[in-house]
Amino acid sequence: MKISQTLFVTLKEEPADAEVRSHALMVRAGFIQQIAAGIYVYGPLMWRVLRKVEAIVRAEHDRVGGQELLMPALQPRELWEESGRWGRYVADKILYHFQDGRGRDVCLGPTHEEVITNFVKGKLSSYKQLPQTLYQIQTKFRDELRPRFGLMRGREFIMKDAYSFDADAESMAASYAVMREVYRRIFTRCGVRFTPVEADAGAIGGSGSEEFMVDADTGEDAIAVCRSTGYAANTEKAVSQIAPAPPAPAEVAMHREPTPGAKTCADLRALFPGLPLERMLKTILYRAVWADREQTVAVMCRGDREINVVKLQNHLGCLSVQLAEEKAVKAATGAEVGFAGPLGLQADVQLLADRSVEGVQGFLCGGNETDVHVLDVWFGRDLPQPPTYDFGLVQAGDLTRDGQGTIEITRGIEVGHIFQLGTKYSESMDCRYADEQGKLQPFHMGCYGIGISRTAAAAIEQGHDEAGMIWPLPIAPYHVMLIQMRAGDEAQDALAQELHDQLEAAGAEVLWDDRKMGAGAKFKDADLVGIPLRVVIGRDAGDRKVEWKPRVGGEVEVISADDVLGRVQAALAAASA
Ligand code: ATP
Ligand code: MG
Repeated sequence: MKISQTLFVTLKEEPADAEVRSHALMVRAGFIQQIAAGIYVYGPLMWRVLRKVEAIVRAEHDRVGGQELLMPALQPRELWEESGRWGRYVADKILYHFQDGRGRDVCLGPTHEEVITNFVKGKLSSYKQLPQTLYQIQTKFRDELRPRFGLMRGREFIMKDAYSFDADAESMAASYAVMREVYRRIFTRCGVRFTPVEADAGAIGGSGSEEFMVDADTGEDAIAVCRSTGYAANTEKAVSQIAPAPPAPAEVAMHREPTPGAKTCADLRALFPGLPLERMLKTILYRAVWADREQTVAVMCRGDREINVVKLQNHLGCLSVQLAEEKAVKAATGAEVGFAGPLGLQADVQLLADRSVEGVQGFLCGGNETDVHVLDVWFGRDLPQPPTYDFGLVQAGDLTRDGQGTIEITRGIEVGHIFQLGTKYSESMDCRYADEQGKLQPFHMGCYGIGISRTAAAAIEQGHDEAGMIWPLPIAPYHVMLIQMRAGDEAQDALAQELHDQLEAAGAEVLWDDRKMGAGAKFKDADLVGIPLRVVIGRDAGDRKVEWKPRVGGEVEVISADDVLGRVQAALAAASA
């Protein structure tokens, strides 16, 4: 393809709103254009990348017998009421929903469990048809609170979603294991470095789930990993063993102390330098919302630890949990924010604690009075220890749960998520098959998502340098960039045309820079768009000599034009091995 005949427009300036490299570079290279927050046009070069990711995804699903279909983006409220998810998705403000011209509620699908379950109902009717896996590649809509990072978190984005239907839990686990392998193959073939991690199932529900994380420092997800045991989990889900509480001090009666303005553990450390953080217990107030009620919940944890709200929300089984607002804090404690404690909270506040408080005695806590804390407090003596659960956020340096290794925190971009759903949707939507005895049983389902557009962006988050993008060959918009130094030069024109035709005939995709402009600008553009293989046709064209100049790695080499095809084929073969 000749660049002169394509919509190839690069920008000198970085977009002002880009927080990550992939976003900035894709905009500069003309791959994407934002038309509103989180809503993008995928330009021709971007679309080629997305179609390549899709092709790999399709091939790997088809290889294990997945069947592709396409479901509607527009969905009626009734299906979401059947599964019971309308309320939560509306409460989370993630759902685009509105009334159609006849006054009926509809939404734009953020995910498709309801539609697929409704689709197979009555069609998959016998155990003899099982197991089956169906998938689609489609645009999804989510009114993300913070659309950002370009294609990483859009409000309209492309997802592959697959759904498996099995007779029982054991066979569901087998289907899930097949898909886990499919995911490994997909991301390996896309040429990204990734880590599968244990994950929280969130609003989708179900039992086991894992996420596939592309390793990147700019990733939104924090991951707990242990190099020696191989443990890897999203910190939303991760568990660890924390250092035990320090020994109790000599027992004295508890006493209230003035702590003017001391609202944080750091402030309190300055006031009481002898008191370790492990003997300062924080009491954090949250507002939990269920479908039919709201409540303030107070959670205690050790001063050196943090609360993981995902674990808290799962424990409470509520629709959302947020830090309580100032008004709610004052109502619950009678004090300004920063002085909450377990003694003397309003009766309607539920008091819970993280496991980290177990065994801590002689501690400091908030006094539920502005500018006052209580010291030398003992569980058992001064108040009962509240019920404890694992609400803790793992931290770097914690031991793994089994004590065999140490946890590090790294970052990643979630590109895929697989779930064992169980019977959540088949039960609620009454979707059953007849077993060998003719008895009706609910399906055991799995669901499996891949962010197609996010995967492409993640590849660039991982593959770029100062000058621009560096695409992995398997998903690059073109395989070869043919840079012709002087368009109009007879020998160069002829050789470029010959190589272009020869490579294309052999199945290599070539972007030929035939523009009448300076070589410097052409090299800059070539660096920016990041096509991995590059051939430069210049002065020595008459002698059939060209430069072999890959986007990264390797010196520039002068080679014979007759060796170009072999080089390209070798690179393509290596990338698909
Ligand atoms: P996140 O925690 O990042 O919001 P999620 O848990 O909501 O993701 P799923 O519902 O599991 O994501 O969706 C499947 C896949 O779709 C994700 O693994 C991710 O790759 C992609 N995805 C999810 N939300 C977005 C988005 N707003 N923009 C682009 N891709 C997304
Ligand atoms: Mg999300």
